[in-house]
Amino acid sequence: MDTAAREAPAALITGGAQGIGLGIARRLREDGYRVMIADIDSEAGEIASRRWDLAFECVDTAEETDVARCVQAAVTRYGRLDALVNNAGIAGPECGPVESLDLADWNRWLGVNLTGYFLTVKHAVPALRAARGTVVNIASTRALQSEPNTEAYAASKGGVVALTHALAVSLGPDIRVNCISPGWIEVRDWRKPSRAELPTLSPEDHAQHPAGRVGVPGDVAALAAFLLSTEAGFITGQNYVVDGGMTRRMIYRD
Ligand code: NAD
Repeated sequence: MDTAAREAPAALITGGAQGIGLGIARRLREDGYRVMIADIDSEAGEIASRRWDLAFECVDTAEETDVARCVQAAVTRYGRLDALVNNAGIAGPECGPVESLDLADWNRWLGVNLTGYFLTVKHAVPALRAARGTVVNIASTRALQSEPNTEAYAASKGGVVALTHALAVSLGPDIRVNCISPGWIEVRDWRKPSRAELPTLSPEDHAQHPAGRVGVPGDVAALAAFLLSTEAGFITGQNYVVDGGMTRRMIYRD
């Protein structure tokens, strides 16, 4: 490996094989990072790895032994860790009525969407501290507002926002930690080939957003790239909403 390659920053992105995580992985690769994606879907991970020049580890982020092995693999491969993006999540928010929500299902939502974020940071702290690195956590606008029957998802995402400011205070000034809360981001065309679909979005889907359109992974990736950069050096502990203005629109029914 030449010196320039050794000095390129290194990023670890959970859930980076598809969707928003893949959007962030591709953006960071374009920006010159060496990127490892950690994903539970080995088929998606292998395809993304080959196609976009990403290292891949098959990981369930809710399992501490998996996470420890993956962080170690990234540090061994790159000799450093500058950026951690916690994105892996059970993306579907619908958990059914709270009175029939199984404890096991609740625990799985919290395990992946919240505990997984804690585990990656726990194991990455020494390497991030050494690199004066940065963490970006992907939460959701559902940390702020809800539809019915989304308790487990909403609680996990609210937890991510709180975890973010707690970590920022504990780990600063060595490590900055910020959070992005996406709104409606269309990812059907960012899935592995066997699951990919052409998005069918209506004019109303777009028009209900004050920005005039539904979001794409690149909208989240652009902010993640900025928050990970030194230009964001005075920003930590914050949650940024990327939703085309949807959470700012007041809706009354007749
Ligand atoms: P997606 O399903 O397209 O991608 C999620 C990726 O995470 C997949 O590759 C999946 O295999 C992986 N993953 C799931 N569980 C995992 C686990 N236990 N360990 C490792 N990898 C795992 O979803 P997406 O829409 O791209 O969502 C990405 C993140 O953004 C999630 O945290 C989601 O909650 C959040 N989010 C998405 C939207 C949206 O509209 N798409 C909106 C708000 C928040």
